[in-house]
Amino acid sequence: HLQVHNVHKSFGTLEVLRGVDLEVRPGEVTVILGPSGSGKSTLLRVINHLERADSGFVVVDDDLVGYRHKGNTLRELPEREILKQRTNIGFVFQNFNLFPHLTALENIIEAPVAAQKRDKNEAIREARQLLKKVGLEDKADVYPRQLSGGQQQRVAIARALATNPKVLLFDEPTSALDPELVGEVLRVIKELAHSGTTLVIVTHEIGFAKEIADTVVFMDQGVIVEQGTPTQVIDQPEQQRTRAFLESVL
Ligand code: ATP
Ligand code: MG
Repeated sequence: HLQVHNVHKSFGTLEVLRGVDLEVRPGEVTVILGPSGSGKSTLLRVINHLERADSGFVVVDDDLVGYRHKGNTLRELPEREILKQRTNIGFVFQNFNLFPHLTALENIIEAPVAAQKRDKNEAIREARQLLKKVGLEDKADVYPRQLSGGQQQRVAIARALATNPKVLLFDEPTSALDPELVGEVLRVIKELAHSGTTLVIVTHEIGFAKEIADTVVFMDQGVIVEQGTPTQVIDQPEQQRTRAFLESVL
């Protein structure tokens, strides 16, 4: 269960998030749409504590992300604990971000072994199952540079799943891919959506959003302008800003 409460974030004088509230229930798929610069990536990065919010907070299940209470004040968690907390919040980046010096299998077992202190042999067994799930069981010992973009992104998804996260965040997972490789990645994400994984996906693939989202959120200039079912937000948007955006991308 993910809750984002009144998050504000500025870079210098630029207010990028201006009071964002978001709730994603277990098993739900939320798709975030919005123009370039509207704060979508920043919101995902705040959820994962890759960026610190200036105010407001994020809760995953019962955990306050990035901080603990110390008397009446909040103390930021030490890096080691933040890394551990991040195993609950999987992140799939636009540019895959695999470790280039590690094989596909080694990429997948890194967080379970290093951050979660799981048994290495067990992590390897699970990593092989995850590779199978994303259709790459024969690529365990291959390095990222030997894989296509679509394959790298599927390894990145397997890596994000390896820690058994409570929620999985995707930041434009197909926008760096050649068009013919988009389908294989969307198929894997679709399967996750149907198998009850909690997902938050930033994408410009409107058709895909319509197909898999329980909730569509439209962001502009650091605020959520409109949210609802795909039918409400994509087919019958109420706000002029949402209509203008959809007209520009459809
Ligand atoms: P896109 O669709 O292009 O990915 P976005 O909605 O993801 O856009 P963000 O990446 O969240 O937008 O950026 C929102 C604004 O914040 C932009 O104006 C961006 O230039 C600015 N910004 C983001 N990160 C930083 C940073 N680390 N330092 C300074 N400005 C930043
Ligand atoms: Mg972005």
